[in-house]
Amino acid sequence: MKAFVVQEPGRYGIEQWPQPIPGPGQVLVRVGAVGICKSDLEVLDGTRPAAYVRYPVVLGHEWAGTVEAVGDTVREIAVGDRVAVEGHNFCRTCVFCRRGETNLCEHYNEFGFTLPGGYSEFVAVRADLVHPFSPTLSLEEAALCEPASCAGYGVMRSRVRPGDTVVIIGPGTIGLLAAAWFTLYHPLHIILVGRRAHDEGPVKQLGATRLVNLQREDARAVVNSLTDGRGADVVFEAAGHIDAVPLAFDLARRGGTVVLEGIAGGSHRLALDPDLFCLKDLRVEGIFAYTSSVFTTTISLMSSGVLRVGPLITRVLPLEAYAEAFRLLRERTQVSGKVLLKP
Ligand SMILES: [Zn+2]
Ligand SMILES: [Zn+2]
Repeated sequence: MKAFVVQEPGRYGIEQWPQPIPGPGQVLVRVGAVGICKSDLEVLDGTRPAAYVRYPVVLGHEWAGTVEAVGDTVREIAVGDRVAVEGHNFCRTCVFCRRGETNLCEHYNEFGFTLPGGYSEFVAVRADLVHPFSPTLSLEEAALCEPASCAGYGVMRSRVRPGDTVVIIGPGTIGLLAAAWFTLYHPLHIILVGRRAHDEGPVKQLGATRLVNLQREDARAVVNSLTDGRGADVVFEAAGHIDAVPLAFDLARRGGTVVLEGIAGGSHRLALDPDLFCLKDLRVEGIFAYTSSVFTTTISLMSSGVLRVGPLITRVLPLEAYAEAFRLLRERTQVSGKVLLKP
């Protein structure tokens, strides 16, 4: 079958790859659409930490497709089911998995990083990792269930309440999906803060009520003007830039919550006032990926139309156009939404 393979950093392309055969308890999924993600670029460039990648690898951890075949002992999933697929092939037996903290599994194993992923025609996956969804949800939208689960886990941990003022720093995929998630809790304001020009249409459709471009505006002044000088109840950081972390602490009100979900890269060090957290009575939530239970919630909300992620999708390209897709992601000069590939 056709697959996009990264043999080693800097050496990649479409090649013939053995078509997987579903073993007992597995299903074979024909990939319908796969999202491209900044972490895919880390695999291409060799900047992903060694524990989180195994070369050669077929990329793709944000994907959905149609069940083509089922292995022995599979009862719940049938040929023809359209499914979204969890990214983490967690072990189910380690102490973290048994607590339901499947995102923290001791045996990291993820499609598109250490297992062949969705930049290919077919993937064989454990049947308990696939989640059928309604006919009203497209394969393209369902491919976003994985990043939407990352965003949703952070939003749940924020303990946002109706009437809150929410700030999201970083208008990338996770930040925009977080905006869609936050709308389910009816905050008063969802202020999206970034360093680029915004294409307001899709951003506002996803739920942001105010856009701040840091190159032209002072985020603190905007937040203060909307909160009588108190600051935001919830700040959701998804920028993946070292400067975003102190900005997040600064924009939160006393007694507020800061959710940190961006990965800045391990080489940076921050200088922070150590008393900041006590004096502000601040709650800080660090988020790594999502649990299996959050993924289940996310696909059901998307499937029922409660959580709408469609406006995020701006380009759908054939797998062969991967170079164009990577270029769009690397050269993003404005908020451009999500690029999907179809194998
Ligand atoms: Zn991703
Ligand atoms: Zn485990």
